[in-house]
Amino acid sequence: MIQLHDKKFEVFISGEEINFAIENMAKQIEDDFCDDVPVFIGVLNGAFMVVADLLKKYSHNCEVSFVKMASYEGTQTTNEVKELIGLNQSLEGRSVIIVEDIVDTGNTIEELKAIMKQHNVKHFKIATLFLKPEAYTKDIKLDYVGIRIPNKFIVGYGLDYDGLGRNLKDIYQLSE
Ligand code: 5GP
Repeated sequence: MIQLHDKKFEVFISGEEINFAIENMAKQIEDDFCDDVPVFIGVLNGAFMVVADLLKKYSHNCEVSFVKMASYEGTQTTNEVKELIGLNQSLEGRSVIIVEDIVDTGNTIEELKAIMKQHNVKHFKIATLFLKPEAYTKDIKLDYVGIRIPNKFIVGYGLDYDGLGRNLKDIYQLSE
């Protein structure tokens, strides 16, 4: 049991289980891109750990980059605009694999996909370590999914609770 801010959390998924899921994801991606040099794009902050572990298990040539989705108010105050920051290379004609820590409603993935379309990529794939199928509302295909979880709030392995918990090697859930 651990305490983060005002809440108690207990272990839900072990680091070993995460390791096994990531190994499977790496193998699947290797099979699909054996003749290509894909660009892995991690979505910060949460995806830093999964990108590092996934790419240590990926033995073919690849590139890696990180982006962040920043939101700011549009010209009308109710109008939130999402912008991608940190992309500093051309992706035209490239095979792009977006790496997410978790897909919940799918809003982030939907926005990323729309932005990537404007970059004229050759292939666009999505890899996510965790998916909450009950919360996912989009038609967008998720190509590589590590572990499906119930609709619960989790922390650890890159995921935070108000800034804390990203460094934990296991996944924790709120303790009842
Ligand atoms: P979506 O856009 O798919 O609804 O949500 C994606 C983002 O919401 C994730 O990248 C993550 O930052 C946050 N998120 C969704 N579910 C959880 C969760 O259970 N725990 C934490 N810490 N963040 C979550």
